[in-house]
Amino acid sequence: MRPFLLYLPALLLVAVVLGSVLAPAVAGAPSAADCAANLKAVLAAVQLYVQDHDDTMPSMTSAGNFEKSVLPYAKVRSHFLCPITGKPYQPNYTLSGKARSSLKNPGAVEVAWDAARHPDGTRCIGYADGHVAITGAKPAAAAGPGACVARLTKLKAAADKYAGAHGGKLPPMPSAKAVQAALGTYAKDPKLTVCPITGQAYSFNPTLGGKVARQVKNPGAVRAAWDAKPHPDRTRCVLSAAGKVTVEKVK
Ligand SMILES: [Zn+2]
Ligand SMILES: [Zn+2]
Repeated sequence: MRPFLLYLPALLLVAVVLGSVLAPAVAGAPSAADCAANLKAVLAAVQLYVQDHDDTMPSMTSAGNFEKSVLPYAKVRSHFLCPITGKPYQPNYTLSGKARSSLKNPGAVEVAWDAARHPDGTRCIGYADGHVAITGAKPAAAAGPGACVARLTKLKAAADKYAGAHGGKLPPMPSAKAVQAALGTYAKDPKLTVCPITGQAYSFNPTLGGKVARQVKNPGAVRAAWDAKPHPDRTRCVLSAAGKVTVEKVK
C-alpha cells in the first residue's frame, strides 16, 4: 500500500496540470468578443510602442512587420491572430511610421482589422483611440432559405411523432398557435411554427387537421404549411402533406 500512497500526490498533480491545459479547449469556440479582446490587446501594445518611440507608429507595411515591431509590447504572439479565422490582423499600412499625434480623429482611424470575416459575417476593427468595433453581421436574407427549410423539417418530424401517438392523425391546424400547442410535447422548440427568417408564423392548411396523413390523396401536391410572407430573397418554403419541404421562387 505504501508505494501507491506515495504516488497519489504525483498523480493528482498530473491531473491538475492536465486539467488546466485542457480547460481552455473545453470552454467552447471563440466568439467575436474574444477576437475584439485580442485586437484590443494589440491596440494597447501599439500605444506602448508609440510612447517608447517618440510618438511614431510602428512598421505597418505588412502583418509580419507589424507583429515584429509590436510583439515586444504585446508579449503574446497569439494576440496578433484572429482566434476565429486564425488569420493575422491586417494593419493599416498608411499609418506606418506616422506621428501618432498627427491623427486628427483617432476614434475614426482604423489601425488593424480582421483580414477575413468570421463565419457569421462579423469582422473586428481596431481604432487609434483604442476602441474595437464588431461590424457587419450578415443579414438573414443573405443566408438563403436554409434556416427555414431546417425549421419546417423539424416541424415535420414533430408532426410525425404526434401522428405516431394519435393513430396516424395529423394535429389540428386551425392556426399556427394551435399547431404549436399540439406539437409542443414532441418538439421543445417554442418557435416551431415561426419562420426564422421573416419571424412570421407559418400558414397551415386547416383542412388537413385531424386527418390521417396516409389517407391524404396525392399528398405531394397538398400544402400542409408554408411561409405566409416570402423571404427577403423572394423565396418561400412549403411543407407538403407528403412531408417534403420545397423552396419556391416568388415573382
Ligand atoms: Zn476576428
Ligand atoms: Zn421561411
